[in-house]
Amino acid sequence: AAHRAFEEGPWPRLRSPERARFLFTIARLIRERLEEIATVETQNVGKPIRDSRDEVGAAADCFEYYAGAIPRIFGETIPVASPGLDFTLREPIGVVALIVPWNFPFIMAAWKGAPALATGNTVILKPASYTPLSALLLGEVCQAAGVPPGVVNIITGPGSTAGASLAGHPLVGKIAFTGETDTGKQIMHLAADSIKKVSLELGGKSPNIIFDDADLDEAANTSALAVFGNAGQDCCARSRAFVHQRVYDVFLDKFVARTRSLKVGDPMDPETEVGPLISPSQRERVLGYIRLGQEEGARLACGGDIPTDPGCARGSYLLPAVLANVQNRMRVAQEEIFGPVLCVIPFRDEDEAVRLTNESIYGLSGSLWTRDIGRAIRVAKRIRTGVLSVNCNRSVHIEAPFGGYKLSGIGRELGMHALSLYTEVKNVFISTG
Ligand code: NAD
Repeated sequence: AAHRAFEEGPWPRLRSPERARFLFTIARLIRERLEEIATVETQNVGKPIRDSRDEVGAAADCFEYYAGAIPRIFGETIPVASPGLDFTLREPIGVVALIVPWNFPFIMAAWKGAPALATGNTVILKPASYTPLSALLLGEVCQAAGVPPGVVNIITGPGSTAGASLAGHPLVGKIAFTGETDTGKQIMHLAADSIKKVSLELGGKSPNIIFDDADLDEAANTSALAVFGNAGQDCCARSRAFVHQRVYDVFLDKFVARTRSLKVGDPMDPETEVGPLISPSQRERVLGYIRLGQEEGARLACGGDIPTDPGCARGSYLLPAVLANVQNRMRVAQEEIFGPVLCVIPFRDEDEAVRLTNESIYGLSGSLWTRDIGRAIRVAKRIRTGVLSVNCNRSVHIEAPFGGYKLSGIGRELGMHALSLYTEVKNVFISTG
């Protein structure tokens, strides 16, 4: 259906304001159904309702951004040596498969779907098997917006069957994937036979560097949710805190106090800051890492228990854990735990902070905290991550590129950068000879 819609349907051939109008309508309909979609997303993932509301609102913003970007998708004229006129066209790839994870199902579908549709592709969205529901609502929204048949298709099902058949299918021209690094490798293998274009947003082990001149209160208070938000199931989670040895104890005390104050509980409660993990097996995995960290020599400074509150009896709840005295070479500091666990690691000076930060197979995002602007710029330039924040933990802006170095991925989503993920470049030369 997606192939037919691309080859025969109106979508790739619409005039740009017409296609933009569909995307603006999708944004409006998402906003009209925001409360309903956010509730489903919270039931889907277990994430706090206030986060779901923010994410659904941001998904609408994303469709609006790419609706506005449509008239700005254009090529270049190139002064070639031969007599004539040379110019490029940016054209859609064709059928694009969007394979998304369970931790941010709705917003990930928007990050990929909006630029893919804006550039004239047809799409097949495959949500993770734990979290199909909000993707189906996005399908309803697109239908209600009048998007022509076959342009947006949604397939639910396991990655090993539904996902893998998309990744290998000869009629799919591109895979836009977010998920685990190992799954990303499998997708590259599956896509190799038909030389599909592949963009990958993968795992992370993001650093949070606290220098001794930082605003420690601000850093401790805001960094807690930067690692424990979404119950730590966030590719950008600031899960390695590197703290200058002079302020290590002070920062740790402040951070532990803030962690203990986090409201863990029913995700439908608007006050809740940390909900349950996605599944019992995910909680077991995280508990295993907490035990491993202690065996490796770390000290559990707080959390790591299953809460006894009766309100937390139904769900894979876990109190956010802080592991102190961690060495960067320990497995807990190197492997993506994907749960509410922070590793706190001391450093001596700027060079050591940079070296330890870069000693990771990942390079997605990170933060650094200092009042010294020169140091902020020096360190930001030396850190091997695709996204970096100074004196805050914000990784994502719709208008700016997002993606990873090293095993954290290939390509940049969001901003105008994403348009190149979903377009082919055609060069045309017209001879005047
Ligand atoms: P996952 O890799 O298990 O699954 C992601 C998606 O791929 C799901 O839809 C799944 O069904 C599908 N899939 C699984 N096996 C497949 C296969 N062989 N072929 C095709 N599709 C397949 O990831 P997850 O557990 O859902 O999500 C967590 C991971 O996602 C973490 O590693 C996290 O860091 C990463 N993540 C990265 C970003 C980013 O932008 N870099 C954002 C969110 C999550």
